[in-house]
Amino acid sequence: METPQSDSQNGLDTCNQEVEILRDQVEALKRQLIDAQRLTALGELVGTTTHEFNNILMTIMNYTQMAMRHDDEEMRQKSFDRILDASQRAAKITNSVLGMARNRSDTKEPTDLSRIIDDALVLLEREMNKYRISLDVQMDTVPLSDVNGNQIQQVLLNLLINARQAMPDGGNLWIRLNHDKDTNCNHLIIRDAGSGIAEEKLRKIFDPFFTTKAGPDKSGKGGTGLGLSSCKHIIEDHQGKMRVESTVGIGTQFTIMLPVCESSSNADAA
Ligand code: ADP
Repeated sequence: METPQSDSQNGLDTCNQEVEILRDQVEALKRQLIDAQRLTALGELVGTTTHEFNNILMTIMNYTQMAMRHDDEEMRQKSFDRILDASQRAAKITNSVLGMARNRSDTKEPTDLSRIIDDALVLLEREMNKYRISLDVQMDTVPLSDVNGNQIQQVLLNLLINARQAMPDGGNLWIRLNHDKDTNCNHLIIRDAGSGIAEEKLRKIFDPFFTTKAGPDKSGKGGTGLGLSSCKHIIEDHQGKMRVESTVGIGTQFTIMLPVCESSSNADAA
């Protein structure tokens, strides 16, 4: 015969199982959210990169015509150099976009974060110029972090596009990468001189679907309210942290803190 104690024990077990199921469901939903945001970001990127590709093709066509027209060896050489530069840039862009489209895996590997920043800047260079955003980038040589490169790029693109949108009349954007010895974390900082975020909104910006934007802007970006919530999930999934500081009328700073990977710490210590 069951004792009242075993009844309550059974009840507790059922309750624990239900909590476990709910926890799994929340995790699955988080992954879906990140994936939905990845697809949104991908769609946004396709718009930007298609324009960028047109520009590159124009450059290639113009310099090819120039090389065909001129007998002058120096002029032809210069044209070929420009064609090669433009083609390499095109290859870099397709690689970044294809990488983001293909990578759905959770694989993390020791990564040089400066490479991810460089890639994101290649993708957004044209957009930043168009909106008169002046970039100040300073990256220290830092130890490797164990990351999924495409997910971290997704985070960076989100933060950079948000920063650009906070400065509709142009402005300054600072990017810093450094290593914090005390915590053994790499710090990636993105600071803008934009509108800033009021205290009552600051508390909500990481909530899914919180947005102050009426919808996507002219370039088709933002307005879903999914960006920062996905960024936070991604960074936490990397055992990292995300911090935001903002002053209305002065600007906003996001700091991403990512642990250094063990092999890199060992290599440094050796
Ligand atoms: P979305 O960009 O689609 O609105 P996000 O989750 O990326 O969604 O951002 C949520 C909100 O946080 C934005 O609507 C905006 O109000 C605010 N925000 C985010 N980044 C910045 C920034 N750099 N400057 C000012 N406001 C920002």
